Amino acid sequence: MDKSRVKNKKVTVLGSQRSAMGAARLLSHFGAKVLLSEINPELFSAEKRQIFADIGAEFEFGYHSPDVLESDFIVVSPGIPENVEIMQKIREKQIPVYSEIEITSWFIDAPIIAVTGSNGKTTTVNLIHHLLKTAGYDSFLGGNVGVAASEILLDSFKVDVQKPIFVLEVSSFQLDNIKEFKPQVAVILNLTPDHLDRYPSLDAYYDSKLKLLLNTDADCTVVINRDDPELNKRDIVADNIRYFAVDNQAGGAAMLAEGSLGMMRENGWNPILPAKVVPIPGRHNLSNALAAIAATMDFIDDPETMAHALITFSAVPHRIEYVGIINGIRCYNDSKATNVASTEVAIRSFSQPIWLILGGKDKGGDFTSLIPVLEQYTREILLIGDAANVIDTQLSQATKTCQLENIEKAIEYCFKHAESGDVLLLSPACASFDQFANFEARGDYFRDRIQSREGWSM
Ligand code: ADP
Repeated sequence: MDKSRVKNKKVTVLGSQRSAMGAARLLSHFGAKVLLSEINPELFSAEKRQIFADIGAEFEFGYHSPDVLESDFIVVSPGIPENVEIMQKIREKQIPVYSEIEITSWFIDAPIIAVTGSNGKTTTVNLIHHLLKTAGYDSFLGGNVGVAASEILLDSFKVDVQKPIFVLEVSSFQLDNIKEFKPQVAVILNLTPDHLDRYPSLDAYYDSKLKLLLNTDADCTVVINRDDPELNKRDIVADNIRYFAVDNQAGGAAMLAEGSLGMMRENGWNPILPAKVVPIPGRHNLSNALAAIAATMDFIDDPETMAHALITFSAVPHRIEYVGIINGIRCYNDSKATNVASTEVAIRSFSQPIWLILGGKDKGGDFTSLIPVLEQYTREILLIGDAANVIDTQLSQATKTCQLENIEKAIEYCFKHAESGDVLLLSPACASFDQFANFEARGDYFRDRIQSREGWSM
């Protein structure tokens, strides 16, 4: 770790959410002179002021001072788009701009397993983390999953670690500003449409995901989903490439064969466990489990340890999370489904008829691609939020829809009309910011509404 590259350097951190606060702490720890600059005055808090005092960083909320443009480099938060005024000024002055994951990686001496893709990232990094921990590694999990990479790195300095590995969930926004970031294992799960509100085209979004491979070389392993049409189309080339596949007959290093998940090693086929006992529902989760197997094969060679880890893994909250049954109607919280592709896989995970709560903040998605699955699997679509009208126009010809004010009204409506054996699924295919602070708040609210109803049981 080369502390000198930041010591006494003037650094501005733009933004003040989780990863920005982590970056400010990490850079201060290594002796940088940090200014945190946040345009939104409402994000200021006494708690943040205390952190700045503790780490000796300067801060400004509600404006960007000219000092920003005097920085040696900038750390930009993933939420800040390129087209805002301050970013344009920074680019004009040609000040280097990095993401938090980039600067964090400068100080990580241990192997990094980094995961990106449009869907399944959080589930897969949690699986990888659980596999590694079960096998006795000191696994640190961070990135886009609740704790910033910089925070987990700082935490790791406080404990005595023998076999550290950093497991990082990486979003396309973080990848947009990497330079040297080089994971030892780079996993790309899938490429499906998302974030058309931030990228000029789908290709631009896909290209930023593929930046995960920018610095991978012969020391790295690249893990790719052989089932994903868009990844196949791109024909990815790497020194060490390892495929995983649920469906593709060509198979890979980790695959589904004879009803079991398993791995292909020099000694041949190693079955790990039957697919039907994988505790997280849906075929997409078999894919996530295989991605995790492929990503950890260099670290865990024993199939029994892998099997034990997979079988003891529990679903991550808000991802097709079972929240209980009322009058024979099983309820699932998939609030994390913030794009059309993830809602599609959630719907496909059930064989029972579904009452689907869809809607929220529109991100420019095309909902018509859902029509074939909606026709096949759903009883009725309950539309909520800002996007309700847009979705209604796209779907109402093909399937029964009903616009409702909010989640609570949608739940009421469902219980009035659904029958025992049906499923109620919140899988909105939209962001939550129209009615909730984030997808967690939306999912927590849904779970709470279900679990406080009469007749509820698990
Ligand atoms: P991410 O972190 O990439 O948003 P999550 O693991 O949080 O992914 O899962 C979000 C939602 O995406 C899930 O609830 C599910 O509906 C869907 N999903 C999960 N894994 C996959 C996958 N491998 N392929 C497609 N969709 C998936």
